[in-house]
Amino acid sequence: EKITAKIKALPKDATYFSLEFFPPKTQAGLQNLHARLERMAKGLRPLFVSVTWGAGGSTATKSLELAHLCLTLGLTTVLHLTCTNMSRAVLDDALDNAKLIGVRNILALRGDEPRQHEYLDRSSAATPLPPPEFAHAVDLVKYIRKRHGDLFAVGVAAYPEGYAESAYPERQDPLQDLPYLREKTAAGADFIMTQFFYDVDAYLSFERRLRGDASGVFDTVPIIPGLMPVQSHQIFRRTTKLCSVKVPQGVSDRIEAAKADDEVVKEQGIQIVSEIIERIKASTETAGGGARGFHFYTLNLEKAVAFIAEKCNLIPEIPTPAIAIEDEVAIVDDD
Ligand code: FAD
Repeated sequence: EKITAKIKALPKDATYFSLEFFPPKTQAGLQNLHARLERMAKGLRPLFVSVTWGAGGSTATKSLELAHLCLTLGLTTVLHLTCTNMSRAVLDDALDNAKLIGVRNILALRGDEPRQHEYLDRSSAATPLPPPEFAHAVDLVKYIRKRHGDLFAVGVAAYPEGYAESAYPERQDPLQDLPYLREKTAAGADFIMTQFFYDVDAYLSFERRLRGDASGVFDTVPIIPGLMPVQSHQIFRRTTKLCSVKVPQGVSDRIEAAKADDEVVKEQGIQIVSEIIERIKASTETAGGGARGFHFYTLNLEKAVAFIAEKCNLIPEIPTPAIAIEDEVAIVDDD
C-alpha cells in the first residue's frame, strides 16, 4: 500500500508516525528485531515503517529480507534505495524484487558521493570521465518513474539545516539545497522525509520556506520531520556530529547535566523530543493541508520511541469493527 494514500485518508487534523529500522547483520539480530517489530506493530501501530539501504547496495539482500518481514507483519513499508557506487543491475534487481515482495514505497537517495568524482579530483592525467548515470537523488527519482511509472510512491530526503558534505562542512546551508530539492520533488517525488534535528526553529522555518515556495511544488506534498530519540550520551554526541546536526544550547545543557546516568539522559531525551513534537503539532499553518506526521530514527530500539509516541498521543486507537447496516437489519429480523 502507498503511504501517500494512507496519509491522504487520515483526517486533516490527525497525527501519524513512522519508524525506521536497519537490517541487522546477523540472523540472531534479525530474530531479536522480529520479536520487537511484532510488539511494535501491535502496540504502537505506526502508519508505516522504513528499512534502510547500505550505501552501494551492501545490504541489498538483508534490506529486502527485512522489508519482506515487515510486510508479512502487516506493516506498510518504505524501502530506502541509494543510487551511487552501485551497478545498474543491482538497482534493477532491487526495484524488481521490491515490486515482487509487495513494496510500494521507495525513498530515493543518492547515498555516498559518487566515487568517480574522487578519481577525477585525484587524476592529474585529466582523462575526463563521462558523468555518472546516477550522480544525484533526482536521477534515481526519474529512473524509477521511467521504469515503473506510478507503481511506487517515491520519497526524497531533505535537510532542514542544510546538507553537509563531509569534505565541505562549511557549505551547509538549506538555501543551497533548495533548487535541487525542488528539482527532485518536481521530478516525481510524492513525499519528503527529513534528516533528524533538535533545532525546532530551524525545522519550522525550513518548512515555512518550502510551503511558501513560489514554484508550488511543495504546496501539498507531505513533509515528514525526522526525529532521533536520545539513546545514550555517547550515541547522541556521535550521531549529531556525524550528521552535522545542530544541538541548541538548551538541549545540550539538559543532556550534559544528565550525562552521569544514561537512564536519565534517555528520560531527558524523551522530554526534549516530545516538546519538539508538540511545537510542530501546534504549527498548523505549514502542515500543507493534511495530517501531521513524525518519522523516528529508532536505531532498532523500542523503549524511547514507545514512551514518546505514548506521551504525544501518536498511537492510533484500535479501530472497532463497524457493524454493517445489513447485519443490524438481520438481527432485528431474527427477533
Ligand atoms: P541529493 O539529493 O543528491 O543531494 C546531495 C547533495 O548534492 C546536496 O548538497 C544537494 O544540494 C546536492 N545536489 C543535488 N542535486 C544536485 C545537482 N543536480 N547538481 C548539483 N548538486 C546537487 N544513506 C544510505 O546510504 N542509506 C539509507 O538508507 C539512507 N537513508 C536516509 C534517510 C533519510 C531520511 C535521510 C535524510 C538520509 C538518508 N541517507 C541514507 C543519507 C543519504 O543517502 C546521504 O545523506 C546522501 O549523501 C545524500 O543523499 P540525498 O538523497 O539527500 O542526495
